[in-house]
Amino acid sequence: MANYYDSNTVIFTNGKFVKAGEARMDLYGQSLHYGYGVFEGIRSYKTAAGTTAIFKEKEHFERLKQSALALNMPYAWDTDALIEATYEVLRLNNLQDAYIRPLVYAPANMSFSRNAESHIAIMAWEMGPFLGDKLLRVMTSSFQRPNPKGFHITAKATGHYVNSILASQEAKANGFDEALLMDMTGAVAEGPGANVFYEKDGKLYTPSTGNILPGITRATVLEICADLGIEAIEKKITIEELKKADAAFFCGTAAEVIGWESLDHIVFPVNWNHTLSRKVQKAYSARVKQADAIAV
Ligand code: PMP
Repeated sequence: MANYYDSNTVIFTNGKFVKAGEARMDLYGQSLHYGYGVFEGIRSYKTAAGTTAIFKEKEHFERLKQSALALNMPYAWDTDALIEATYEVLRLNNLQDAYIRPLVYAPANMSFSRNAESHIAIMAWEMGPFLGDKLLRVMTSSFQRPNPKGFHITAKATGHYVNSILASQEAKANGFDEALLMDMTGAVAEGPGANVFYEKDGKLYTPSTGNILPGITRATVLEICADLGIEAIEKKITIEELKKADAAFFCGTAAEVIGWESLDHIVFPVNWNHTLSRKVQKAYSARVKQADAIAV
């Protein structure tokens, strides 16, 4: 298990900076019992200039708010104030390359009723510089992503991640690195915590929105493609066409841009270093560090 905190770690919770080991959560909380909470996964980076920058912080905290509202959770916080508090958490813990986890959770409530208030905690821990050289062996999951008619799937809700845990653990138990899940129509959807792209004949393809979490990294990859003049197409994707791709990758805040070696043991034919996907990966790495892509 990773060491997320020690006796010196400080978190932000309900307006205060407190020691992580001294913060308490109610065992009678509705979030814990029913998976009724929302969260974010955010990265900060040591920039090329040596400063600390949270990547797309507004987008993440806005999504946190939209996720809470989608679940009828009261949301009393201001995005700019939360960003400021997050920078303070980084400063207090002496962190630059970090993973940041804001969590909005419900008070004690064993019923399904709406609450009068929510709580918030912002935690952060060190995450080393990105290497991106290891390629993933991916397995088509036997689990499908949650049906958008059963859940607000564009919300980043804690309970949705039981699906991610089942899929990821199944893949690892079968000797793979990660899972790829279909949507309820059987089309390619996403990974347990990342979106998917594939490359074929000089173009990139990614599943359309509707049955996926439309990731902030996915949007960044689309921006990078536009900047680099790479055609990127959003469409319904079948597993058969994905297996005939030249290359493929996952992208997400934590995963960043990570190439695939194989899907269900079918190895992608083009050397990763010679793909457009690798160019996108390098550009992403430069963008988060506010560096020149050539220097990466
Ligand atoms: N899909 C799922 C299911 C995820 O959990 C994540 C991670 N938040 C993503 C996609 C990628 O989203 P983002 O790029 O905003 O991190």
